[in-house]
Amino acid sequence: MTNRIPVKVGNTEVGSGRVVVQSMTNTDTANAKATAQQIYELHQAGSELVRITVNNEESAAAVPEIIDRLRAARCDVPVIGDFHYNGHRLLQDFPECAEKLAKYRINPGNVGFGKKRDQQFESIIQVAKDLNKPVRIGGNWGSLDQKLMARMMDENARLIEPLSSEALIEKALIESVLTSARQAESFGLPAEKIIVSCKVSGVQSLIRIYQSLHQQCDYALHLGLTEAGMGNKGIVASTAALSVLLQQGIGDTIRVSLTPEPNQARTEEVKVAQQILQSLELQSFKPEVTACPGCGRTTSEFFQVLAKQVTEHMDAKMPQWRLSHPGVKEMNVAVMGCIVNGPGESKHADIGISLPGTGETPSAPIFIRGQKTHTLKGDNIAQQFIDILDEFVVQ
Ligand code: SF4
Repeated sequence: MTNRIPVKVGNTEVGSGRVVVQSMTNTDTANAKATAQQIYELHQAGSELVRITVNNEESAAAVPEIIDRLRAARCDVPVIGDFHYNGHRLLQDFPECAEKLAKYRINPGNVGFGKKRDQQFESIIQVAKDLNKPVRIGGNWGSLDQKLMARMMDENARLIEPLSSEALIEKALIESVLTSARQAESFGLPAEKIIVSCKVSGVQSLIRIYQSLHQQCDYALHLGLTEAGMGNKGIVASTAALSVLLQQGIGDTIRVSLTPEPNQARTEEVKVAQQILQSLELQSFKPEVTACPGCGRTTSEFFQVLAKQVTEHMDAKMPQWRLSHPGVKEMNVAVMGCIVNGPGESKHADIGISLPGTGETPSAPIFIRGQKTHTLKGDNIAQQFIDILDEFVVQ
């Protein structure tokens, strides 16, 4: 991880070497109860910062109640306000909202237009300065600064070898964000209060942009693939883009922006972000479950069911274990389908079970730190293993 200028966001530091996982709510912010509930759930799932949209007066008015509800529930997660178009007005007209938020996110492309742009931008920076709040200057290719884009297109057209439209957008996005960040500094906001981001939805484009951004500035970087999409597509695209950059030490806080399936929990994006960091061995959040894919040697789907049960059980226990047994997140659990790789993989894990495959003795040996400690039999193997696992954790 290369050195960035660290930024304190409430009780969390961004840019000091550890990648901070963040997320964003999708409730109507004006509904304080529902928004506080979702922030609480995201934080319980492991989100260290949570962003909410503050898009109108009703939302701004609801912010103090949201924060009060969270604090009453002993949830101290920093809450970030996302402002577009009218942020200058809302932050001035709702001082309690401005005070209670831990950070403001603004988009240099829609902070204001024409002559009023600089004035409105300065007004937001002034509030941040007065209240000692950090600001994320976050560009998005869907809302690029049109004036800047028009100027750059003009200049590009005069070049002997003009940039492709994709390269021009990437350049404009970086310039928009860095120009605004430096403008914020000229208005008196120190670099220790500035985080920047440039979000696009293309994997290769995101990689190019962040590699360049990383070289061009020392600001802490918020990293994420915007509009990544639904289901596997969103998860794979985000993982591909973020992994390349994180491996190069680029990215100080990440958000995985997934389009949720109907009824899918919002916390999914937090789990995916954590899993990316965990798979890259950058940070640990929960025990790692090693499970074989299964094949014709497995007698039934029982072992896949067991692997799922074990994973879900540990996910449910993690909020409690995180407090009582923080070391548990480094644990490795193996759930294997037969004798071929089962005992070997189980011995390498902190705790592992090898279920019986086709034609094998109907028993399931358990290994704890390389030693065979139990042999489970009968119809209740899953619960027995989970009980042994719980006992192992609290020992
Ligand atoms: Fe198949 Fe056994 Fe390998 Fe699992 S461990 S994939 S069941 S051979």
